[in-house]
Amino acid sequence: MRHVIYPGTFDPITNGHLDIIERATTLFDLVTIGVTTNPAKNPLFSVAERVTIIGDVTHHFSNVRVEGFSGLLVDYAQRLGACAIIRGLRAISDFEYEFQMALVNRKISDGIVTVFLMPHEKYTYLNSTIVKEVAMFGGDVSRFVPPTVEAQLKKKIAERQ
Ligand code: ADP
Repeated sequence: MRHVIYPGTFDPITNGHLDIIERATTLFDLVTIGVTTNPAKNPLFSVAERVTIIGDVTHHFSNVRVEGFSGLLVDYAQRLGACAIIRGLRAISDFEYEFQMALVNRKISDGIVTVFLMPHEKYTYLNSTIVKEVAMFGGDVSRFVPPTVEAQLKKKIAERQ
């Protein structure tokens, strides 16, 4: 069975992430979305909240599962018996960092392959930070995220004010 991990912060998951997940489901038998703690990014949602939201917006995929993880990505991949890591490439600006990460992961563990997928062009400008900024200023994010995410963003922002 070809099992792949799609790791990330997903704070929150966007239509760009979902585009990548959908592509991955056609290439692999099982896709595990690994939600990282990443305190450096000062996330708006807790890992548990992100896992719940992602589970909600991916339940129509029969071969997708989601969970939180911490520690080294390659260790996590080995624990799960995954053969590859998926990363999304939006633009040239993503390339340098992603290339470095992929090479470091390959140095640590030779057996794990990083696969880069490109989203539809309409999502290349999209990231979670932009979505949060627009939402915090009361802007409409309905084109960027599924309705569940939009509702959770509104709720979380209202709680914080
Ligand atoms: P990380 O903290 O790992 O960068 P993100 O949630 O920002 O977490 O992104 C997870 C992965 O999804 C990364 O590979 C990133 O390049 C990719 N990604 C983020 N936004 C998009 C998008 N709009 N289109 C395609 N890939 C994306």
